[in-house]
Amino acid sequence: MLWFTEYYSGEGMDLKGTGLTIKVKNALTTKTPFQEILLLDTEDFGKMLVLDGAIQTTEKDEFIYHEMIVHPALFTLGRKPERVLVIGGGDGGTVREVIKHNPEKVELVEIDREVVEFAKRELPSISCALDDERVELIFDDGREYIKGKENLYDIIIVDCSDPIGPSRVLYEEEFYKDAFKALKDDGIFVTQSESPFAQNRVHKKVVKELQKVFSIVRPYFAFIPTYPSGMWSFTIGSKILDPLTVNPEKLLGKVSNLEKSAGKLKYYNSQIHYGAFAVPNFIYEEE
Ligand code: SAM
Repeated sequence: MLWFTEYYSGEGMDLKGTGLTIKVKNALTTKTPFQEILLLDTEDFGKMLVLDGAIQTTEKDEFIYHEMIVHPALFTLGRKPERVLVIGGGDGGTVREVIKHNPEKVELVEIDREVVEFAKRELPSISCALDDERVELIFDDGREYIKGKENLYDIIIVDCSDPIGPSRVLYEEEFYKDAFKALKDDGIFVTQSESPFAQNRVHKKVVKELQKVFSIVRPYFAFIPTYPSGMWSFTIGSKILDPLTVNPEKLLGKVSNLEKSAGKLKYYNSQIHYGAFAVPNFIYEEE
């Protein structure tokens, strides 16, 4: 019998004496120039992708993360997206959800080609949209890729790992400024923004840096069992469109239209859209 433990001891963690242990049936591993990839077949969570010791996604709970990083922003946009940029997200789950909105084009910029190849081979239910003809795969550093781009994207989604290693540059104000420029006038930026419970300072820094750049900044929350503490956050930075003022009736109609064409969503619905933005008191309390 094999058990895998993710120790929450890395930089930025507030729960250094804590971890999550999961029973494993099988393991595959490879080392790339960027990170160590581990694919575990677990007893309860199906296949699980681990990068440098940190759980990225599992077959059982990935729908929560991927639906929540995509749908609040895409439904706030309120029109058919033309061009969407996803930075990171090499497992393909975010692209799978974006495709449900029928965009004209999605660019996925992933620094590590091997994550994409691994996901295509081992995680077909997550990576299934990566071969869609509207999806362009670009193997590059998202920080470099976005430099100098202006007025191009309806939506930019940052689906990156913790701010250690190659993801660090995706948490900085200068990156957010370049993302702002790369968005159209009504464009929306969204990033995963770590656990407000287990990485409280990191989460607050993301929100603060985004507030320097975007006039509308809305953190929101979801429960993801295999992420540190289970309490997770995402943050939207927007130029003019506010996720909180989306018309509820129109939203309901649009969600049911999407479900008619793409199949049922398992987490996101029109009530979650508003409820997820409710902020528990402790998160932004002064220390
Ligand atoms: N859902 C995940 C989480 O929060 O744990 C993130 C999953 S996704 C697999 C993260 C991806 O971001 C990794 O495959 C990694 O290679 C990629 N990545 C990290 N830094 C990057 C950068 N600067 N540019 C593009 N991709 C990057």
